Amino acid sequence: MSIHIHNVSKKYGSFQALEDISVDIQSGELVALLGPSGSGKTSLLRVIAGLESSDVGEILFDGQSMTERHPKERNVGFVFQHYALFRHMTVFDNVAYGLKVRPRKTRPSKQDIKTKVMELLQLVKLENFANRYPTQLSGGQRQRVALARALAVEPKVLLLDEPFGALDAKVRKELRRWLRKLHDEFHITSIFVTHDQEEALDVADRIVVMNNGKIEQIGSPDEVYTNPKSPFVYDFLGNVNLFKGRLANGKLMHGEFALDVPDSHTHTDDNAIGYVRPHDIHIEKTNMPGTVPAKISHIHLLGPIVQIELRREDLDEFLEAELTKEQFFQLQLTIGDQVYIKPKQLKVFIPEDYSI
Ligand code: ADP
Ligand code: MG
Repeated sequence: MSIHIHNVSKKYGSFQALEDISVDIQSGELVALLGPSGSGKTSLLRVIAGLESSDVGEILFDGQSMTERHPKERNVGFVFQHYALFRHMTVFDNVAYGLKVRPRKTRPSKQDIKTKVMELLQLVKLENFANRYPTQLSGGQRQRVALARALAVEPKVLLLDEPFGALDAKVRKELRRWLRKLHDEFHITSIFVTHDQEEALDVADRIVVMNNGKIEQIGSPDEVYTNPKSPFVYDFLGNVNLFKGRLANGKLMHGEFALDVPDSHTHTDDNAIGYVRPHDIHIEKTNMPGTVPAKISHIHLLGPIVQIELRREDLDEFLEAELTKEQFFQLQLTIGDQVYIKPKQLKVFIPEDYSI
């Protein structure tokens, strides 16, 4: 089932929660809605499910408008952050619920319901927990039951609103890998809401980055991470170093340094900020043209990546660089060393165009 979100806007009173949102989701895709708290992710999910109506715009499933369709007719499965399991029902009954409440005409037989529920419990690896109650399960297990329950009615679309948000980091990671595997097997068109960039980058085919009710960027995890279209996306999708200066003649300049900006042909002599990811900071021990002097202030050696904190003495500002262990040992860096840094990849934004 493809989902077409077309120019959707929504206000709560005078507050604009969604502003002109358009996204096309292909059948079988797993799309993450990523944004900070309050950016409108849940609102958009509820509009898609039909739990909320938009003021403007339209939702189409497989080209058909859903505007007049009741949530029940949309064939959507929902998993929320807070386990919405029925506390007084066993795991089995929770998963069976959506099938048991069907009108008699479409309701499967008791035996068919049992087979289906046990299949789903096997799928979420809880076949031995059918007779337990939700309070007798861990958080991760409860979310797996919630997912089995959402899948029981064979939805055409699966909407997951921060499903692992309340779980600890290790379980979250396990569950998102497992969700990805499940998705690859079933190919149900899925929208996964999260405010955790690592989770979105790890699990999704495509990411929709939201901020203040608007879309900042849509792209594959690699696209949005390596080629952010706005300062917001740079900031939100990982650590970033800022180089403030003036942009003129293809160079970003500040005091003594001048960094090459190959794609800066449109602007002349503007205030500008260069954005550089820590792993795009190149470190040299000798002074070369186009580098920025800095002193090593901290070294964090853990695992294969070495994080290095540097102090720019011209500005009294700190930078963060990431090296592989091999690079680090080759350079023989120690705290207090004078080094010269150069961005391998620098993206420049003009602050006037953006609210930084
Ligand atoms: P997110 O899921 O990204 O955290 P939401 O969609 O829940 O964001 O909310 C977006 C904004 O809309 C928030 O500022 C929130 O306070 C506001 N909001 C959400 N639901 C309502 C509502 N029913 N009435 C008024 N304001 C709401
Ligand atoms: Mg939310």
